[in-house]
Amino acid sequence: MAKLVVVGAGAMGLAAAYHAGKAGHDVVVVEASDTPGGMAAHFDFGGVSLERFYHFVCKTDYPTFELMAELGMSDRLQWVDTTMGLFNEGKLHRWGDPIALLRFPELSLLDKFRYGIFAAICVRRNQWAAIESKSAKTWLLRWCGQKVYDRLWRSLLDYKFYEYADGISAAWIWTRIRRIGRSRSSIMQERLGYIDGGSMALVDSLVQAIERQGNRVQLNSPTVKITTENGRVTGVDTPASHLDADFVISTVPTPYVSAMIPDLPAEWKARYESIANIGVICVIYKLRQSVSPHFWVNISEKDVEIPGVIEFSNLRDFGKDHILYVPYYMPISHEKFTWPDQSLVDESFRCLQMVNSKLTRDDVIDIKVARLRHGQPICEPGFAAKIPPIQTPIRGLQVADTCYYYPEDRGIAESVRLGRALAESIGVVHE
Ligand SMILES: Cc1cc2nc3c(=O)[nH]c(=O)nc-3n(C[C@H](O)[C@H](O)[C@H](O)COP(=O)(O)OP(=O)(O)OC[C@H]3O[C@@H](n4cnc5c(N)ncnc54)[C@H](O)[C@@H]3O)c2cc1C
Repeated sequence: MAKLVVVGAGAMGLAAAYHAGKAGHDVVVVEASDTPGGMAAHFDFGGVSLERFYHFVCKTDYPTFELMAELGMSDRLQWVDTTMGLFNEGKLHRWGDPIALLRFPELSLLDKFRYGIFAAICVRRNQWAAIESKSAKTWLLRWCGQKVYDRLWRSLLDYKFYEYADGISAAWIWTRIRRIGRSRSSIMQERLGYIDGGSMALVDSLVQAIERQGNRVQLNSPTVKITTENGRVTGVDTPASHLDADFVISTVPTPYVSAMIPDLPAEWKARYESIANIGVICVIYKLRQSVSPHFWVNISEKDVEIPGVIEFSNLRDFGKDHILYVPYYMPISHEKFTWPDQSLVDESFRCLQMVNSKLTRDDVIDIKVARLRHGQPICEPGFAAKIPPIQTPIRGLQVADTCYYYPEDRGIAESVRLGRALAESIGVVHE
């Protein structure tokens, strides 16, 4: 059996290592951070173990369910009837079902009809080739019209993608609408899930399974170089040691790849480098009172540069505490990405007070600010053709990250599905 090094202990790397271990390979996972889990990792929030970035499960996350069943933890999946809100023109509206759409006062009946038809078709649609070369803006304008775009979509796109907002792929937006749209118990009722104990319960269970296979996850071990000889991968250098390998799977964000694999041909490096990412900052609140009854509130309000707030405790119960995430997505070149935590807290708290005017600073129990430089790949029209093949020209070396399952958005289910496929390709596709 082969010696495999997996770079990155996020969901994809751990799933790859677990499945490779099942096939009998000798596996080491090397992770730069002091904790496994990548984007799904937790932190200690005053005694509560919580994701640094909000995570929920949808009814179509089948690869997650399959993996959890294998790990004997299916009973840890919990499902909750959730609702969505929309804050617009100074008012909080219920959102996300046909009655809420009909009651929304800011659109004409014709606009509501167009939007309703659009949403219903998105949820049923399975083909994406016809919209892959279109921008989300053009596609949304054609289906829903200018008023719906301005009212419902513009701020979501502008305050997530900034200068990239007009050039996001329609296929990518469609998979997001479809994933949420299919996570319902009826046309009127959204139903979302979470893992009891959070995403870390799955991460910990994977790490334990890998260790039971006799393999290991090595933390605090950034890969500084993937080494090669005569066109074949030979191993991985970390600051502390060199690990020999017959096969290497890299799952780190593509912007890191060129520097980590200096022996790649220049045209391959250029392809990885051309994939841009935006960063994400989450301001996480523990509050004494709830902000709204909704899990997710979209914000479409003039001069508010926050696309939405997530009241996580309306999904997962935290006793008497209310947990909220205020996400800021933006290119890391944006000046706000370097704002001190306090400025982000001040701005995001004003936004929470706008949604619930009764909220005061006395309601705040704790606050944490989490930052990630590569939080979301930017998938423009035609992105499918831009993704380099998983198998690199270096024999034995596979490279993938969350943009490889485009048009699906980044998600644990897709990462574990691709991680498994990477493991199953060892010795098949590249020999
Ligand atoms: C704000 C936010 C909200 C999200 N919400 C959801 C959600 O609700 N539901 C859902 O399913 N998914 C959600 N996701 C997405 C989900 O977290 C990811 O799709 C998934 O965790 C990605 O796993 P991965 O292993 O592919 O990548 P990552 O988690 O990025 O893992 C890559 C790993 O590589 C490590 N690494 C980087 N460089 C090196 C190096 N040189 N050497 C060694 N290791 C290195 C990193 O530290 C990291 O641990 C969310 C993500 C974010 C950011």
